Amino acid sequence: MSDAPPPPAPSSTPAPLTDPSTGANLGLLRCARCSSRMVTKSGLSCKRAGPASRFHIPRPAKNGGFEDFTWEAKEHEDWWELADSDDLNNFGMSPYVPCPALGKDLRIVLCGDCHAEIGYQILGSPAISLAASSLAHRPPPTAEDDARDFKVPEGTDLAQLRAMMAAGGLTSQFDVTIAEQRLGMVLTDARDGEGVVVCAFTETDGGELGAAEKSGKINVGDKVVRVNGASVKEMDYAAVLDVGGGKGPAAQRVQHKDWQAQKAENARPPAPQR
Ligand SMILES: [Zn+2]
Repeated sequence: MSDAPPPPAPSSTPAPLTDPSTGANLGLLRCARCSSRMVTKSGLSCKRAGPASRFHIPRPAKNGGFEDFTWEAKEHEDWWELADSDDLNNFGMSPYVPCPALGKDLRIVLCGDCHAEIGYQILGSPAISLAASSLAHRPPPTAEDDARDFKVPEGTDLAQLRAMMAAGGLTSQFDVTIAEQRLGMVLTDARDGEGVVVCAFTETDGGELGAAEKSGKINVGDKVVRVNGASVKEMDYAAVLDVGGGKGPAAQRVQHKDWQAQKAENARPPAPQR
């Protein structure tokens, strides 16, 4: 008797990368600089002209304070639009800064590995705009190689981003798959009202580290964004446990706040654990 089903037969015609009628991304968007995996099968391709085509990037002035910027505006015709950051992998966000040209606050979306600026988000809207030239569009089969995709790149200059991280917050987002039925973490409703955060870890009955803590990826204060593909934005912690609980491996998408002070703010007193 065979253990595994036979692999699917290779397709003779390659699948299209973009849906021709809707512009939907059917493939994989990687950072053009370091090849880090950013977006899989999500986002809409669009053309922009005029002021909407400008990518405003704040550059901290040398020896200046954090609010002291010179602005760079690059024009891009081709963009990818995402409804929100839920489907972004491996990214960072700068703090919001007021952009004089727009009259609005924006924050820069960065590659989580090499910190290349790939797009932006405007305060008040969850939508993300990604400059297509900052990304390489690839077929999805290579999307599955986590070991290759989440390595640390060499020789990147992080000084500017370290300054931004020190001054505000940088958020990264990643996927964790937990095989155990007990996740080993205590969840509580996020203070901002969107979803839940990890407020503590629990041990197994045998006194060993629980699955979440053992994964080495999840920290107290991290926000759970999706469970088994479902967004938890509108859910409280009890609903999240319903989605993830008791049905075998639970794929958790977790948002990690690197800024310690923000972690403390996000956590409320512990909720009952499962
Ligand atoms: Zn990169």
